[in-house]
Amino acid sequence: MTRKPIYVAQPLLPPLEEFIPYLENIWESKILTNNGPYHQQLEQALCEHLGVKHIALFTNGTVALVTALQTLRIKGEVITTPYSFVATAHSLLWNAIDPVFVDVDPNTLNLDPAGIEAAITPQTTAIMPVHVYGHPCDVDRIQKIADNYGLKVIYDAAHAFGVQDHGGSVLRHGDLSVLSFHATKVFTTFEGGAIVCPDAKTKQRVDHLKNFGFVDETIVVAPGINGKMNEFSAALGLLQLKGVDQALRRRKAIDARYREGLAGVTGIHCLQGAGETVANYAYFPILVRPGYPLTREALYKKLRDNGIHARRYFYPLISDFPMYRGLPSAAQSNLPVASKAASEVLCLPMYPALSDEQVDCVVELLAR
Ligand SMILES: *Cc1c(COP(=O)(O)O)cnc(C)c1O
Repeated sequence: MTRKPIYVAQPLLPPLEEFIPYLENIWESKILTNNGPYHQQLEQALCEHLGVKHIALFTNGTVALVTALQTLRIKGEVITTPYSFVATAHSLLWNAIDPVFVDVDPNTLNLDPAGIEAAITPQTTAIMPVHVYGHPCDVDRIQKIADNYGLKVIYDAAHAFGVQDHGGSVLRHGDLSVLSFHATKVFTTFEGGAIVCPDAKTKQRVDHLKNFGFVDETIVVAPGINGKMNEFSAALGLLQLKGVDQALRRRKAIDARYREGLAGVTGIHCLQGAGETVANYAYFPILVRPGYPLTREALYKKLRDNGIHARRYFYPLISDFPMYRGLPSAAQSNLPVASKAASEVLCLPMYPALSDEQVDCVVELLAR
């Protein structure tokens, strides 16, 4: 049987004709970048949509992570999770910071606060947790530890667009939160990212750092980088915001359909939310456990042979990549929960254009 391949994610693109007027404006104004009108409008629109006060847009999430660490002048050691996309720890290495890996919670697969204190040394300056799959971290416990030890908290919130807890946006937590708008994420600007800042002064420092450190035409206050988002990306962002709520409702329906279909399948465990009041259904991770007739690898291959490109997010663990595995904290014995999850996880296709028939086809392959 030959079918069109089904990928794990597919960007939500508005009708092309709706993008044309934005392009015409860009061609007309000749403003392509450097805090142009669409850039300013998107920052404003995202603050309103997400319910946060200050946002600085970036060219991608990784440069935003690197810049967030620069913003707070983080040095020494930073406690982080091995169970994430590799950019989380790479942003530390780019700042000559030593990552210290702590294991994850078995239910959420987020950084386990219980392991943080034991990993703190005199060199520790910050904690960098990840809201994995958009499920919020235990933000209260993490903040309490940070306060007790005088540490900063920078959230890699690349998966957490639009997620809310009882107090509002999860992006308000920590000293800074970093978003990614990569093509595979819930909200995309082709490539893009953002730093959510708690106050205007911090946003100003971020804005300087993402523009080479320029304050005005002749004054440079810091060795900044070029992290600016261009007008083309900002325009797509503005247009995409219009459809994001509808897309979320479709994601929610797909999530429910998977859960219903997989409920009776022995050995397949669907990861639950972490108590968020508004979820974003960014991913649909399952854990393939003993009792299931196939190993995770065999299931991954079976799906692939049937044109379904599920992804092993997150395998291998960051701590298993060559530039990290020599660290004392990277030892598998230090990370038993993360290691087990990495060997069991499979993220199933999840995007708004996925049809009920396609979901049923994935479920059937898993159940058969
Ligand atoms: C996507 C992602 C990033 C990197 O974002 P880019 O915009 O692709 O640079 C960082 N961390 C996590 C957890 C991600 O999923």
